[in-house]
Amino acid sequence: MSKKILILPGDGIGPEIIAEAVKVLNLANEKFNLGLETVEGELGGAAIDKHGVPLADSTLELAREVDAVLLGAVGGPKWDTIEKSIRPERGLLKIRSELGLFANLRPAILYPQLADASSLKPEVVSGLDILIVRELTGGIYFGAPRDQIVENGERKAFDTLPYSESEIRRIARVGFDMAMVRNKKLCSVDKANVLASSQLWREVVEEVAKDYPEVELSHMYVDNAAMQLVRAPKQFDVMVTDNMFGDILSDEASMLTGSIGMLPSASLDANNKGMYEPCHGSAPDIAGKGLANPLATILSVSMMLRYTFNQAAAADAIEQAVSLVLDQGLRTGDIMSEGMRQVGTAEMGDAVVAALQQL
Ligand code: NAD
Repeated sequence: MSKKILILPGDGIGPEIIAEAVKVLNLANEKFNLGLETVEGELGGAAIDKHGVPLADSTLELAREVDAVLLGAVGGPKWDTIEKSIRPERGLLKIRSELGLFANLRPAILYPQLADASSLKPEVVSGLDILIVRELTGGIYFGAPRDQIVENGERKAFDTLPYSESEIRRIARVGFDMAMVRNKKLCSVDKANVLASSQLWREVVEEVAKDYPEVELSHMYVDNAAMQLVRAPKQFDVMVTDNMFGDILSDEASMLTGSIGMLPSASLDANNKGMYEPCHGSAPDIAGKGLANPLATILSVSMMLRYTFNQAAAADAIEQAVSLVLDQGLRTGDIMSEGMRQVGTAEMGDAVVAALQQL
C-alpha cells in the first residue's frame, strides 16, 4: 500500500506551523514504523508566485496520487488585489472539489488546561469533545439556479438548496461511522419543519440509521442546535449536518474552545483520502515572527494518522504529547494566561516532539 503525503505549507504562518507539524510527523513515522513518505508543493500565494496560478496542474496531479494532503494556510495582503479568478483561496476551493472531499470533520475539543480561554463558564466547556461532520460539496453553496434579477422594477436574488439522496446517504454514513468509533451518539441537524431538502435529509438519515443499530440517533432543528451549543455543548458527541448549517455551527463550536490556534480539521473523500489543515487562516499579522501556535496543525497530523492511515496508536500518542506540553505550562501567545510560560512556534513544536519521544 502506498503511503504518501503531499505537504502544502502555503502562505503567511503556513510554512512556520507546517515545519513544526512535519517534525512531529517524522518522529511518529519513525517511532511507530508507519512507512510514510512526503513530497512538497505550493498552494495559494506561494503557487501564484512560482507558477502564476494558485494551484498548478502539476500540484493537483501530485495531490491525486498521494493518500493525504497536509495544508498550512493560504492567502495574505500581497495577493488581495490580484484578479479574482486566481486569488489564493481559489486554489483551496479547487483542490477540495477536484479531490471530491465531501466530508468535513471539525472537532471542537477544549483541553481542560485551557478552560479559561473560552468565553463560556469553565464548567460548561471544560473537557468538551465534540465532532461536527459537515457536508462540503453540495447544498446551497453549489446549487443552481442562483441569480440576481430585476422583477417588477426591484432587484431580487435567489439561491437553490438541492440535496440528492446519495449525497445525504454518504455524509450520513460518515456521521454514523464517526459515532461508532466515539461514544455512539449522533445528532443530525436540519430544518425539517420548513425546508423540503431537510425533510429528505431526515428521511435518508433515518434509513441509514437501520445499518447502525448501536448508534443512538437524535434530530435537532438548526436554530435549537445553535442555542444548545452555547447552553450545554457537552450533550453532543457527533453532529452531522449540511453544508451551510455546518459552516455556521462549526465556527460557533470552534469559538466555544476560545482558541482558533488549537483546532484541526479534515476533509475526506469516499475512500478516506483526506486533506488535513488547521481551522485558522494564514495570520499575516504575526507571520514570520515565530509567534504562531503550531498545535492545530500538529493535531491535524494526528487526525491524518487516525482517519486516512488507520494508525490510532500514533494519533493517540500525538494528542497525549500535546496535552503533556499544556500540562507543562507552555503556551503560545494566543492561549497565554497568567502563571504560564510563553513560548514561540518552534519551542512549542520542539516540546511536543520531546513529549512524544518520551511516551
Ligand atoms: P486568521 O485565522 O488568519 O487570523 C485571525 C486571527 O487569529 C489573527 O489575529 C491571527 O493572528 C490569529 N491566529 C490565527 N491562527 C493563529 C495561530 N496558529 N496562532 C496564533 N494566532 C493565530 O484569519 P483572517 O485574519 O481572517 O485571515 C487572514 C488570511 O488567511 C486571509 O488572507 C484569509 O483569506 C486567509 N484564510 C485562509 C484560510 C485557509 O487557508 N484555510 C482560512 C481562513 C482565512
